[in-house]
Amino acid sequence: MMMRMLFPEGKMKALTFSYDDGVEQDIRLMEIFNKNGLKGTFNINGEFMEQAEFTYPEGTIGRRMGYKLAKETYGGELGKNHEVAVHSYTHPFLTRVPRPIANYEITKDREVLESVFGRVIRGCAYPMGPFDDMTVEVLRNNGIAYARTTQSTINFSIPTDWLRMPPSIYHKDPRFMDLVENFVNGQPGIWDTAWFFCIWGHAYEFDADNNWELMETACEKLGGRDDIWYATNIEIYDYVEAFNRLHFSVKGKVVYNPSAIPVWFEYADVTCCVQPGETKTFR
Ligand SMILES: [Zn+2]
Repeated sequence: MMMRMLFPEGKMKALTFSYDDGVEQDIRLMEIFNKNGLKGTFNINGEFMEQAEFTYPEGTIGRRMGYKLAKETYGGELGKNHEVAVHSYTHPFLTRVPRPIANYEITKDREVLESVFGRVIRGCAYPMGPFDDMTVEVLRNNGIAYARTTQSTINFSIPTDWLRMPPSIYHKDPRFMDLVENFVNGQPGIWDTAWFFCIWGHAYEFDADNNWELMETACEKLGGRDDIWYATNIEIYDYVEAFNRLHFSVKGKVVYNPSAIPVWFEYADVTCCVQPGETKTFR
């Protein structure tokens, strides 16, 4: 029987962004996202939330936000559709520190972000990028659902190992705009799964490289399309997990959705939706 997961409303494409370090330029990036109806995830180091604000020497480009501005930005109107996620407390190479310190880096960051923003935080991006079996175990023990790496796939495959989650592309990659065009203009073929597109980077890079127009152009192309699901990383994770948790009978004729979200899939060329708590029978 032919079957594949679809995104909400039967869409074949999902788009998300993952931007790191909690810098002041996230404000401008969020404004671009909001203008185009896009959603993203911002990965933040809690150490900088311990101070109300910072003053930086003139010319400093990577300016992390203190508590006041961060709360106003991610916790206010501007950030209400976006996700805040763990990026470790002090931004070390997690693979180089002893396990108890790696553990503290994650627990502490999660605790600080949860107390500042009053939300449950379950996402993560690895600081600097490196990860190993120890760090994955530490994240799992801390209730982290997914952790974004820096190992881009340069395609639209849906992650399967979510604690080693690869993004699709870094916006500084020379292939970036081509991949954006492919995502907007292409369609998954019958051999493909639904498409997942995750763009990552740091918002201060647009100041450093003086190329905000790159992101503005990409977001305008990507936004306002009814065939794309615009979502945060945790929303996509939760959705894929809800699909994976559907209970199918062995012949695939009966399906039960034990989750709290409607789940869509293609079944023998027909688009189906199973509501939360619903049992559906196919002929
Ligand atoms: Zn970082």
